[in-house]
Amino acid sequence: MFGAQRIPVDLQCRVCPRVCKIEIDLEDLSRWEQGEMVQYAFADALGKQYLTPAERELLISGLCDLCLQKLFEGPVRVMPLAPKQGSTTNNE
Ligand SMILES: [Zn+2]
Repeated sequence: MFGAQRIPVDLQCRVCPRVCKIEIDLEDLSRWEQGEMVQYAFADALGKQYLTPAERELLISGLCDLCLQKLFEGPVRVMPLAPKQGSTTNNE
């Protein structure tokens, strides 16, 4: 509990064949499965979360960080970097 006995766990992404290794405390995992909020289940004794946001998403949604990125990029148009138009600030 409180991430004191973290062991490496392989989680395979639901979408791609990527396997991600995360270190979690199995007691915390079972607390989460019993309904504890993820941000409280995977926290140390001081209440500080020990999983990265990507690791939490992997647990919750079963998607690896790459697939999550694709998901978020999907419907949302990513603005291309504005091309530099002939700079007029050349002070010679
Ligand atoms: Zn994936």
